Amino acid sequence: MDLLRTLWTAGHAAYVVGGSLRDTLLGREPVDWDLATDALPEQTLELFPDAVYENRFGTVVVRRRRREYAITTFRTDHDYADFRRPHRVEFGTSLDADLGRRDFTVNAMAWGANPGGGSASGAASGPEPGAEPRTALIDPFGGRVDVAARTLRAVGEPLARFEEDALRMVRAVRLATTLGFSMEPATLAAIRERAPLVAHLSGERIAAELAKILDAERPSVGLRLLADTGLLDHISPELAAQRGVVQNKIEGEDLWDHTLRTVDATPPHPIVRLAALVHDIGKPATQADGHFYGHETVGAEQARKMLERLNEPRAVTERVAHLVRQHMFKYEEGWSDTAVRRFIGKVGRDALDELFALREADNIGSGVAPTADGLDELRARIAAELASGPVLDRYALAIDGNDLIVEFGLNPGPHLGRILDALVERVIEDPALNDAPALLMLARDLVAGDR
Ligand code: ATP
Ligand code: MG
Repeated sequence: MDLLRTLWTAGHAAYVVGGSLRDTLLGREPVDWDLATDALPEQTLELFPDAVYENRFGTVVVRRRRREYAITTFRTDHDYADFRRPHRVEFGTSLDADLGRRDFTVNAMAWGANPGGGSASGAASGPEPGAEPRTALIDPFGGRVDVAARTLRAVGEPLARFEEDALRMVRAVRLATTLGFSMEPATLAAIRERAPLVAHLSGERIAAELAKILDAERPSVGLRLLADTGLLDHISPELAAQRGVVQNKIEGEDLWDHTLRTVDATPPHPIVRLAALVHDIGKPATQADGHFYGHETVGAEQARKMLERLNEPRAVTERVAHLVRQHMFKYEEGWSDTAVRRFIGKVGRDALDELFALREADNIGSGVAPTADGLDELRARIAAELASGPVLDRYALAIDGNDLIVEFGLNPGPHLGRILDALVERVIEDPALNDAPALLMLARDLVAGDR
């Protein structure tokens, strides 16, 4: 209201638009607030001296109480090319044109006022000085009715709108999932027909929507929609190939069903959710005689390729690929403490919680108890090992490469690392060996062997 009033007082039309208005009407807390105005970016900047002019699309961002408010000049889009975002936008004075370029009816409403006496707000003339201008809900496409009916409907001709920007199809799935809306039939049919156009989109735009689908209460709703509309074929053919792959886990359910159950069973942690989505991505390619030998190795590679296509940050890609690679571990009561320490070393301390969360979800997705296969016992033994501060890599050894150089007159080089790694192996077997004299004794033999 503060921001709107500032714009109104300066004589500008200003409205709350888009998802923030939609969410408000739904009684949900908006993720971010979008305002639209007939003020040009320079004029908006003058009214909010602390604001930042963000991009060539005419958005000025104001921060208030640690939240960001995007104030965008009314615009119309031009030159859609390659089925992507417009290349050129034009600032306009018309709210109706601005709403008409938006994707779905529930996103194409505005609430606010035009103190200059715009016909849209119904005010015949300007307000008296100091008085609050008359506000109105501007709803040219029936968004209010669709909000009430929980319907997602494209603005205008759906086929044409998805050809302008193919991301709208993925947004449709995402919004239907997070809002719990159904897709209006013509909108749904148009997605089925134009699904191949998502191949033209940049990876990060798809990834941003996928992340929101995965963050939903039941991601499977959106993932199933992606598959059923044919969008998934063009986002991840490897995952699309999971449909119809038989595995004897839950009666009557195929590999894709298992993936979806697994994703739904994860906590809402972005890395774990992504890992759950791709944990069995390698199964279709490794399927033989009802087995999937080595699917975690093949899968880690396929997951990496898929996430690289989506331009995920490198750290995300590596973490997810690592979880896929490790998800098939098989604990047995007979494991020695050395075996537990080796496991910690192989998985890495930082990845343990994520791997356990993935495995519990995988178990649920397989129709067994979450902590089947002795998972609780392994967790307790890992905790005990970690509490005693075990050596898991060369950095925790009581000696380092320098000590080897000084003690044995060695030159720097990769052979130092090989010796240190061999010492780590010995200390994993027997933690008591981790003191300098004992390690140097062991190193003496290794140095002799290396020469
Ligand atoms: P969220 O709640 O996740 O923020 P949102 O609908 O607000 O969802 P934004 O990406 O914040 O999504 O976009 C704000 C508004 O901009 C949308 O409500 C819609 O009116 C418009 N919009 C966004 N992306 C597109 C698009 N690809 N095509 C047309 N209009 C779009
Ligand atoms: Mg938004």
